[in-house]
This record gives sequence, structure tokens and C-alpha cells, in this order.
Amino acid sequence: MLGRIFHPLKTLVFGSRCMICGSDVDASAHGICMSCRYNIPLTNYWLKEDNPVKERFAGMVPVVHASSFIFYREGSQWRETIHQFKYGGMWKSARELGRWYGAELKGSGLYDDVDVVVPIPLHPIKQMNRGYNQSSYIAEGIAKSLDVEVLHRAVRRRRNNPAQAQCDFNQRWENVDSLFKVSDIRALAGKHILLVDDVLTTGATITSCARTILCAVPDCRISVVTLAVTQHITGTW
Ligand SMILES: [Zn+2]
Repeated sequence: MLGRIFHPLKTLVFGSRCMICGSDVDASAHGICMSCRYNIPLTNYWLKEDNPVKERFAGMVPVVHASSFIFYREGSQWRETIHQFKYGGMWKSARELGRWYGAELKGSGLYDDVDVVVPIPLHPIKQMNRGYNQSSYIAEGIAKSLDVEVLHRAVRRRRNNPAQAQCDFNQRWENVDSLFKVSDIRALAGKHILLVDDVLTTGATITSCARTILCAVPDCRISVVTLAVTQHITGTW
């Protein structure tokens, strides 16, 4: 238990430890050792136009592409690391994994025309308590590799209960119960937006956010990426 508490601190302070297993790494390893890079439970979904994550959104919200980087496996050190993004202050690791994922997205060719990256915002109270939004750091890493801008404030999370927004986007959703609000329509107009979240579970939050954006900015397109995806969605293991 003590190791789990001090492991992220070691990583932050010294920067010479693998962020996953804690073993020594040199600076060129970007904080992840060879063994962990070899054993990372990659989905490879970003290489495929159709995959279980994209299917997850079918019928819920139209997305151009969707993928997750790794499987969120029970008992895995990788799961522990992603959990630490929220509660262990491991934002540097979040950015580094985002950078790695971004390089893979770039290599796939499917995400070449992404214009901007938008992290799913946290509820303001949560963000205040935590001090940061882990998805923002993942988004920064991805955007750096894709060489595009991150828009941190174009979409906001509502402070109070969801409001009903009228939407005539393809008459698909008459009303959208939204947790979110678009605060900069001009920044998103006509763009291919890459929405970024940390873990995909039911997909309800991302769907709500994507619908809100499509209602407010009907001429944009949306793709979705998350760093991890839980087992019950993919059903692959
Ligand atoms: Zn390692």
C-alpha cells in the first residue's frame, strides 16, 4: 500500500522511474520502461474504421471516428496508473500517455483532418477539489502529437442540474438533457473536433457532450478518443 502511495511521488519528483512499474528508466524512455511498453494492453482500435468503441456510439450520436488506447483491466498496473490520474496527481503521466496515443492516432491516418482537441470538462466543483482535469492533460499530449490546438474552454460543464436545450440537428434529438454548454461556438464552427476523455464506461457522458456540441454547432464533425475502455463495453476478455 505504501508503495502505491509513494510511487507517483517518486515519478513526479525524480522523473527517472517508470510511471507504471517504478523501475529505473533513462530520460529517453519518456517515463515508461521497455517492459511496460511491451506489456501495455493496447486495443489497436485506432487502426480500424469500425471497432467496438465506434459501435458503442452507433445510434446515440454520429461520430466520424472513435477509439480507445488501452483496455482498463482489473488488477493491471495500467489500470492503477489511470486511476491515479484522478486521485494521485499524476497529471504528467496523463500528458505523456496522451502524447503516445496521439502519435499512434497520427500514424493510423484516420485522424489526419482533426482540427481541434476538446477535453470533456469536469464538473466545476470536482475540478476545484481535484485542482485539475485529467482529461485536459491527456488532450494536451494528444494535441501535441497531432500538432493541433487544445480548446480548454470552448465547452463547459453546467454547475447545476442539466438544462434542456432545443435541438433541430437532423431532428434527431428533440430535446437534449445536457450536462454541458458550448461557450465558444465560433471556435468550433466548421471544425473536425476530437473529444477526449480518460475512461470510456457507458459512453453516456461523452454522448451528452457530443450532442450538445452538435446542437450548438451543426456544421462541425466529432470524433471521440479515450485513453482507456472498460471490459463490459468491448466484451473481448
Ligand atoms: Zn515499467
